[in-house]
Amino acid sequence: MDHFNYQNGELFCEDLAVADVLSEVGSPLYLYSRATLVGHYRGIRDAFAELDPIVCYSIKSCGNVNLLRTLIHEGAGMDVVSGGELYRAGLAGVDMKKVVYAGVGKTDPEIVQALNAGIGWFNIESEAEFENIARLAGDRGVVANAALRINPDVDPETAHAKTTTGKKESKFGVDIDRGRRFFETYGHNPHLRLSALHLHIGSPVYRAEPYVRAITKAMELIDELRAKGHEINAIDIGGGYGADYVERQSVGYDEYAAAIVPLLKPFKVGGGTVILEPGRTVAANAGVLLTRVQYVKRGGSKKFVIVDSGMHHLIRPTLYEAFHFIWPTRVDPGHVPPQRERDLSSQVEGLERVDVVGPICETGDYLALDRMLPPVERGDALCVFTAGAYGMVMASNYNTMPRPAEVLVEGDMWRVIRRRETYEDLVALER
Ligand code: PLP
Repeated sequence: MDHFNYQNGELFCEDLAVADVLSEVGSPLYLYSRATLVGHYRGIRDAFAELDPIVCYSIKSCGNVNLLRTLIHEGAGMDVVSGGELYRAGLAGVDMKKVVYAGVGKTDPEIVQALNAGIGWFNIESEAEFENIARLAGDRGVVANAALRINPDVDPETAHAKTTTGKKESKFGVDIDRGRRFFETYGHNPHLRLSALHLHIGSPVYRAEPYVRAITKAMELIDELRAKGHEINAIDIGGGYGADYVERQSVGYDEYAAAIVPLLKPFKVGGGTVILEPGRTVAANAGVLLTRVQYVKRGGSKKFVIVDSGMHHLIRPTLYEAFHFIWPTRVDPGHVPPQRERDLSSQVEGLERVDVVGPICETGDYLALDRMLPPVERGDALCVFTAGAYGMVMASNYNTMPRPAEVLVEGDMWRVIRRRETYEDLVALER
């Protein structure tokens, strides 16, 4: 799962007590475990090794350039969705041939940036976009590769409505019928080689079955297109693989691979390239958000634990009703959590029901509602687990609050990989 564990009531990240780092760097803080990040990247890469896939880590999930460099060093490519992410990927030193670029609204300057960089594939979301990229490539006399994003109309089952993408009624990609016509119209363009399919059915998808249904449909389409003379030499099956917000929430990499690899093996053996775009499953368990209790307050029947972080730093609880396990970084021996579960009150004595809320002037500013926690008081540090993915990247400056610093831990060493913002930073661009 990860390298965050309690030792004698003290939370450690790898070989470091996280409270010590928090005291030195200040609160709040995103803290990442290098061993966890690399472990998860290797886990998925190795599980799919038979397909020798290009693993394009999805930058949108957690994009600090230091973390990208670590993954690139392991051989990762990158999945980007903006010129900004492409810039990050370049800064981190990615091999541009291992970059896929998705997103429904690529602008002309972003497309030109990607053409100049010589990226691996544009993931195409619409006819209008294809025509525009082909035109821009033609103007420059270059040839680029394109993968058509298809919606296989598969229910990812466990994803939140806001993160389901592979259904027919989605702004992403085109349905399979339209995909056929797409290849008839654009399949022989000299500047934008349409020679691949792209899928991404949603996130998180905690079981292998939805992938099986989606990939089966995609492979049928590939057979059909090949029979009509189209060259299809790559398939990108997207991301969405689950992370463990609580113990064993997701199937493991081996289980995904056991179901998916046999479907793609013939394609691979026939010379095709397979691309994966994992984000969350690599980054989520690698990061935690550390925050300090400011006040404890009663309101009617409720008890509020007010902390110095909230929806502006981790928006997932209020945006997706997402669960993040939260626990103090230092506890009595009797309060060490036996595992991460939604409610530990049947296993740990002396817990109390609280809302963990932030300082933002919004009722929706919370990290947890009706949560059973050990008693805490002002100054205590809390750890919000599994916050590495869609945490810092979605943080904002709402209420003119600086975003947290980011720290990377490696064994018993740590370093700041993004300093805390200052008030001067927050107004620096204003004229
Ligand atoms: N690929 C595409 C096209 C996506 O839209 C996303 C997430 O939104 C991902 C990959 C990464 O998903 P996850 O972080 O769940 O693996």
